[in-house]
Amino acid sequence: MDKNTLLQVWPIPAFDDNYLWCIHDGVSALVVDPGDSGPVLDYLAKSQLTLKGILITHHHADHTGGILDLLNTLGPQIPVYGPAGDNIPGRTQIVKEGDHVEIDSPRISFQVFEVPGHTLSHIAYYAKSQANIAEPMLFCGDTLFASGCGRLFEGSPTQMTQSLAKFAALPKNTLVYCTHEYTLSNIRFALAVEPNNVDLISWSEKAQALRQQGLPTLPTTIGQELQVNPFMRSDQADVIAAAKTISEQEELPSPAHVLAVIRAWKDRF
Ligand code: ZN
Ligand code: FE
Repeated sequence: MDKNTLLQVWPIPAFDDNYLWCIHDGVSALVVDPGDSGPVLDYLAKSQLTLKGILITHHHADHTGGILDLLNTLGPQIPVYGPAGDNIPGRTQIVKEGDHVEIDSPRISFQVFEVPGHTLSHIAYYAKSQANIAEPMLFCGDTLFASGCGRLFEGSPTQMTQSLAKFAALPKNTLVYCTHEYTLSNIRFALAVEPNNVDLISWSEKAQALRQQGLPTLPTTIGQELQVNPFMRSDQADVIAAAKTISEQEELPSPAHVLAVIRAWKDRF
């Protein structure tokens, strides 16, 4: 395989709304968060790909439930990368903030971010542009969604704010591979927060058209999320004003306070 051949990233749909992302070079493949093995095995067989590694972002079953069956079916030698601190079935490599995951085939290097919030040990995998990657790529699990963010099952609003700030610092053209198709319902909520956000209004129309054609709304980009995602905009005047109104609080002293209000609002929206 020519090392400059561009890598491909494909969504393998699973359950109701999960995407299991497959990164491949036409021969060798990685899969991110295989919550189910069947759709992955079907995709690998149909595309004649050999699975060379599994990347896990967090311990929830819809992201880990297929690991052991993939290893049993395709070989126990396949490395499984994942965070410390939780039981990840079949995990062979614990990775943490600042670690680099170097894969030979498909040829790719990831930097690991610790992004607590949705779960405490949640991590994300970032690949900067390389010979075979035109735009940087982020595999963010259930931390960031198109126009939304993950529920705070284990972490605090402060942790989620800091985790999203790590993503906000990445290049704007970074492609963000979220793990659920939640976009249309996230947009409905985002419009309640920022009804006058023109970027959000045009994104809403585009996203609806994609879904009507049965197409994923993903990947999104960091630049786009900074324009339309209320959870990435908790320092913006309109979002702060909406959070003050809904919470009937006169002061929300930090972005984390704002995020806490809009996350709780979304939870009951
Ligand atoms: Zn989850
Ligand atoms: Fe999930």
